[in-house]
Order: sequence, then structure tokens, then C-alpha cells
Amino acid sequence: MTLAGRQPAPCPLCSAPGPTAFVRKGRFTVLACSACGLRYLDPQPAPDELETLYGEAYFARSRPGEPGYDRYLEEIDNIRRTFDDRLRFLPSQAAGSCLLDVGAAIGLFVERARRAGWNAEGVEPSQWAARYAHEVLGQPVRPTTLEAAQIAPQSVDVVTLWEVIEHLPDPRATLAAIRRVLRPGGLLVLSTPDAGSLVARALGKRWPGWGKIPEHLFFFDRRTLGTLLTEQGFVVKTMRYVSLVVSRGYLLDRVCGIAGIRPHARLSRAWLDRPVKVNPFYDLLIAARAPR
Ligand SMILES: [Zn+2]
Repeated sequence: MTLAGRQPAPCPLCSAPGPTAFVRKGRFTVLACSACGLRYLDPQPAPDELETLYGEAYFARSRPGEPGYDRYLEEIDNIRRTFDDRLRFLPSQAAGSCLLDVGAAIGLFVERARRAGWNAEGVEPSQWAARYAHEVLGQPVRPTTLEAAQIAPQSVDVVTLWEVIEHLPDPRATLAAIRRVLRPGGLLVLSTPDAGSLVARALGKRWPGWGKIPEHLFFFDRRTLGTLLTEQGFVVKTMRYVSLVVSRGYLLDRVCGIAGIRPHARLSRAWLDRPVKVNPFYDLLIAARAPR
């Protein structure tokens, strides 16, 4: 593949020029840095395109192949189960320990964390999602970015970033902002699809991660994300693949999508709706400690 007629952006992680084109979708190309291996979207969508992208359709109506979370609202109880499971990667909290969920979407992790005793709140730049969190689920999620939220420095014990860092226009700036709000020695826990995982490499261009264009702006792996965190002063404590809970129907659609076949039409709704816990072995969880 060539990049006709336009100079591609230099690597946002190491500034090396001359990336190679890796995957293309419409006017977007995923570039691979020849020096550090980071893969990133070029060009990045404009801010007003992102605002449109993350409206109601993104969470409520999207289907496989369209931008958005497939069936986010239909899978709401399974997302709750997934988040209950993720709570075990947080440290045991003292009474009133503060947790900030960045990119909180409709506030489901904030809800689960509060239920588990955390003093949790969220920030979410999608106006639609933040309003849903507040008005429908009664969760404290502010309709803003972390950078604009004016959170007191060193006031937060744990920051979580669930499947968010790959959506951020400037992940380095957001990690710097997280470091500022975390108390010394506080914990950042994040997850992101690992573009360098064995599964991603085995599936090649059929890996579902490459379908998330243009909403994923970065396609990290253990090395590139580790570099970025270390550069921002974080000490990586845990890196592991985590599971998620989905309905059988959701899983079946995903697997059939990868295999290029149609799901069996005669399976009952009751069977398809049953939850199942799966580890796709590319959902990377990282826990990293802020400088003391
Ligand atoms: Zn690079």
C-alpha cells in the first residue's frame, strides 16, 4: 500500500518519520511506525466528527461493522458483570477512597465501584452518554474531558480507563493529566485491545480491532503502551489478558463475523440471551503506579 499525494503524520510516540500503511478504511489509514512499532490512525477525525460519532447511535443502535459499541444498552447487565469482575484488579480501599473513571460512558463502572464502597465519579466527553448516566442511572458522571474537569491535583486514589486510551486524540496528554490528579503512589488501571497479541497477529486483517475505524485512533501493544506509561513516570505492575461477560448471541455474532458465516437462525432467544464469560486473549489490562 502507498500513501498517495500526502505526507503522513510522524509517529506520535517517538516522532520517527516514514511510517508504512497497514490497514485502510475509507479515507483513513492505520500507519505503523517503522521505529517503535506504534500503529495509529491517519488522518485523525476532526473534533466535530468525534462529537457526532459518540452520540446516541454509538451506544444504542450500532451493529457489527458500524462505528460504536455493538448493543451497549442491550448488553448492559453483562457489562455490569464484566465490571464487577474488573473490581478485583483494584486495591482494597479504605473508607471513602476516591476513584475516577475517565471515559465513563453511561456510568456503569462508576455504579459498580460505588456499590463496592468506592467514592467514585466519572468524566465523559460524550454529552449523550453523560446525560444518560446522570438522568437514567443516577450516576455522578460529568459531561467533560479529564483535562477540562478541574479536578484537584493529587486528590484521587485510583483512575480507571476502560477501553478508552485507544479513543483519545492525545493519550500522552491524558496520561499526564491522570498523573497530576492521582495522589503520589496512586494506581492507574486501564484496558485496551492488544494489537500485538497472538490472536490479533493470527487473525491479521480479520482481527475485530481493525474494524474499529475511525473511533480507535491508536492500536497499542504491550511494548508501545509500556513505553508511553514509563515515559509519563508510571511503574507498570500488572499486564494481563482479561475476560468479559457477553450474551451467547453477541459472542456468536462476533465469531461468525470473523469466520465470515451466518449464525444459525433457529436458536431460541432464551438460549442466545444467556451470559457467558470469555477471554479473547487480546483485551489487555494494565495496572500502573504513579510516582511517589
Ligand atoms: Zn514510533
